[in-house]
Amino acid sequence: HAMRPPPPLFHLPGFSSARHAHSSTARAASVEGTEASRGVEEVVFHPADEYFQQVPHHYDHVEDYLVHYEKSIKDPEAFWSEIARNFHWETPWEETLSYNFNRSAGPIHVRFFHGGETNIAYNALDRHVAAGLGDRIAFYTERNDLEPIRESGPGGLKDQYTYREALEEVSRIANVLKSMGVKRGDKVGLFLPMVAELPLAMLACARIGAVHTVVFAGFSKEALADRLCDAGCKAVIACDGVFRGSKLIPLFHTVDAAIQLCNERGHIIEHTLVLKRLGGDVAGVHLTPGRDVWWHEATAKASSSCPVEWVPSEHPLFILYTSGSTGKPKGVLHTTGGYMIQAATTFRHVFNVRPEKNDIFLCTADCGWITGHSYVTYGPLLNGASQVVFEGVPSYPDVGRLWHMVDKYGITHLYTAPTAIRSLMREGDEHVTKYARSSLKVLGSVGEPINPEAWKWYHEVVGGGRCPIVDTWWQTETGAIAIAPLPIKGWGQKPGSASLPFLGIEPVLLSQDGKELEGPTEGLLAIKSPWPSTLRSIYGDHERMEQTYFSFDGYYLTGDNARRDSDGYYWITGRADDVVIVSGHNLGTAEVEAALAQHPSVAEAAVVGIPHDVKGNCLYCYVTLKAGQAPSPDLEKQLKVSVRNQLGAFAAPDFIQWAPNLPKTRSGKVMRRILRKVAAGGKAINVEDLGDTSTLADPEVIKELIANHV
Ligand code: ATP
Ligand code: MG
Repeated sequence: HAMRPPPPLFHLPGFSSARHAHSSTARAASVEGTEASRGVEEVVFHPADEYFQQVPHHYDHVEDYLVHYEKSIKDPEAFWSEIARNFHWETPWEETLSYNFNRSAGPIHVRFFHGGETNIAYNALDRHVAAGLGDRIAFYTERNDLEPIRESGPGGLKDQYTYREALEEVSRIANVLKSMGVKRGDKVGLFLPMVAELPLAMLACARIGAVHTVVFAGFSKEALADRLCDAGCKAVIACDGVFRGSKLIPLFHTVDAAIQLCNERGHIIEHTLVLKRLGGDVAGVHLTPGRDVWWHEATAKASSSCPVEWVPSEHPLFILYTSGSTGKPKGVLHTTGGYMIQAATTFRHVFNVRPEKNDIFLCTADCGWITGHSYVTYGPLLNGASQVVFEGVPSYPDVGRLWHMVDKYGITHLYTAPTAIRSLMREGDEHVTKYARSSLKVLGSVGEPINPEAWKWYHEVVGGGRCPIVDTWWQTETGAIAIAPLPIKGWGQKPGSASLPFLGIEPVLLSQDGKELEGPTEGLLAIKSPWPSTLRSIYGDHERMEQTYFSFDGYYLTGDNARRDSDGYYWITGRADDVVIVSGHNLGTAEVEAALAQHPSVAEAAVVGIPHDVKGNCLYCYVTLKAGQAPSPDLEKQLKVSVRNQLGAFAAPDFIQWAPNLPKTRSGKVMRRILRKVAAGGKAINVEDLGDTSTLADPEVIKELIANHV
C-alpha cells in the first residue's frame, strides 16, 4: 500500500484568533469574520470557551484533530488498526487493508481486517455487560401517543431496555430465528415501526450471522415485495400495526400482501415473526399457521442466552436500499468489521456523547435508512450510549413534540434532518421556546444540504445560540459520516457547510472528465481512498456498483457536487444530476434554494432547470411558504430580485410556482428528477412518465403540482 502525499493543510477560519479569543458572554457564540462567496454573506460561528469547559472533546483543539487526520490519511493501516484493537475480535486480523479503486486494473474491491473474526452484536451488547454496564439504559421508547391510550397487546412491550435486558431479548429473538431455520448468511427482512424492538431485531440477525434488510415501515406492498425478492429474504420480522400521528398503519396487511406478491414471483418467504404493538383487533391481524408466529409467544419459550456466531470481518452485515432520490433504489451491501469500526468512531467523535455523564441521544431517523442503522442501532450501542427511540412524528400531537421530549428525557444530543427543521421553523418559534431545552449540547443535521436560514434557526432558536451544529454529509454508500464540523474548540462553523472531512476520509473535487482540481473550486465530489465502511457492492449487481461509483479510475464518485472555499471547507451544492447550466454558469440547486429560503416568507424551495432558447436552461422554482403567508405577484417579484442580488443576474429565476407541498422520498428528501419532468412537461404530463415513484411519500402531491404548473 503506497504512501500518499500529505493532505492539503486547511486554513481554518478564525483559527489563530479563536485560540486566544475571549468570549464576553457564556451564551453568545463568537462571530469570527465574514467572507463573501457568490454574494452570500458567510459567517463563522465558534461556540463560547465556556462550552468546551462543560463539554470537552477527545480532541482539545482542532489542531490536535488535524494531526490525527493527517495520520489517518498517510497511514490508514496503522490508524485504523489502533482503533480496531479497542473492540473484541475473537480471531485477530492478519491484513488491515487491501483494495482496488481502479476499474481498468480488475474488479473493484475493499477489504478491511482480513483474517479477523468478530461479531458486531457482541461488541454492541455483551462487551458492555461484561464490563459491568448491564444496568445502563440502552433504549427508551417514546410512544406515538403522549398518554398510552392505545396500549400494546399481551406482549406488553417494554418502554425501556437496559443493556442486559437488550442482550437477553436479542438472544431470545436470535434463538427464535434459529428455530425457524435462519442460518449464517441467510437474509431476513425487517418491517417494523420505530420501537426499541427494531434495533434489537437487527442485532439478533447480526448475532447469528444473518443479513438484515430493513425496509421503512411506510412502504407499499409492491415496494416491500421488490426489496424482499431482490435481497432474497428467507424470513420477515413484522408487526401488527402502529399509529404514526393520528394515522393507523396496518403493517401486517402490507407484509401479508407483499409475501403473496413474492410467492407469485416464485420467491417463497417461509417464516414471519410478528411483534404485537397494538394488540386487540386494532389492526385486524390473522396469522397464517405454520408461517407466522407472534413475537411474544415465540420469545417467551426461547432461551435468553444464545451463543455468538463469530464471522469474518468481511461477512455481510446488511443490505439497505437507498432513498431513491435520483433513480431506482440501490441495494447497498455493507460488511461487518470495517462498518463496525467506522460507525463507532464517527458516533464518538462527531457527536461527543458521554454515557458516563448521563448524556441522552435522540436520532429522529428511522432504522429504514442508513442514518438509523449507523446512529440508532450501531454507533450508539457500540459506544455504550443511552438513547430515545421515537415511534411517532415531530408534528404530533403538536409541533412542539421534539422539544417536549428533550425536556422529558433530558436529551443532550439531537440528530435530525433539514426537512424536519424547516417544517418546524415554518410553524413559528413559540412552539420551541415554551420548552426549556437546557439539556441540549450538540445538534446534528443530515440528509440534505441545510440552508443557512434553517441552520441559523436551529442554532439560535432551538439551541439558544449555545450548541454547535454538526452538519453531517454522508451517504448510504459511505456507511458513516464522512464530512462534518466536529464540536471541537477552534473548529469554526459556517452555516450551510459540512466543512472538513472526518478521520480517514480523503475528499477531492473532480472536473467533468475526472481530473483532480486544486484549491478553492467547484466540481464532482469524490473520495480518493477507501475507508472502513466503504460500500462493498450493490447486492446482486456488482457491475452496477462499478458503473455508478467508479467510472473514473482511482476514485469513488459520490454523485454530489461540491464547492471548496479558501478555508478548505466543503459546501454541497446539489446532486450532480441536478446541476443546471444557465448561460454557461453551473448552478447547484442547493445554492438557489438557499437563496430563496433567505426570504422571511419562504419555508422551503426546490429548484430545477428547464430548456431555454437563449440561456440554454433557465430556473423553474417551486416555493413553499411559511404558515400564514400568502402568495402574491409582489412576493414573486421580491423573490426573483432577492436571488438575483444574492447569486448574480444569470441566476434570476424565470418561473416561480407556489407549492404548498413538495414531492419527497419517504426519508424526507426532495425528488428533483420528478420536479424537472413536471416543470418541462407542464399540465400535459402523465404520472406514468415520471419514472420510479415507488419511494415517493405522498403521490397526491404530484397531481397538485401538475395542476398548478405556471
Ligand atoms: P438515491 O441514491 O437512491 O438517489 P439518496 O442519495 O437520497 O437516494 P441516501 O444515501 O439516503 O440516498 O442519501 C445520501 C445523499 O443525501 C447524499 O448523496 C447527499 O446528496 C444528501 N446528503 C446527506 N447529508 C447531507 C448533508 N449534510 N448536506 C448535503 N447533502 C446531504
Ligand atoms: Mg444516493
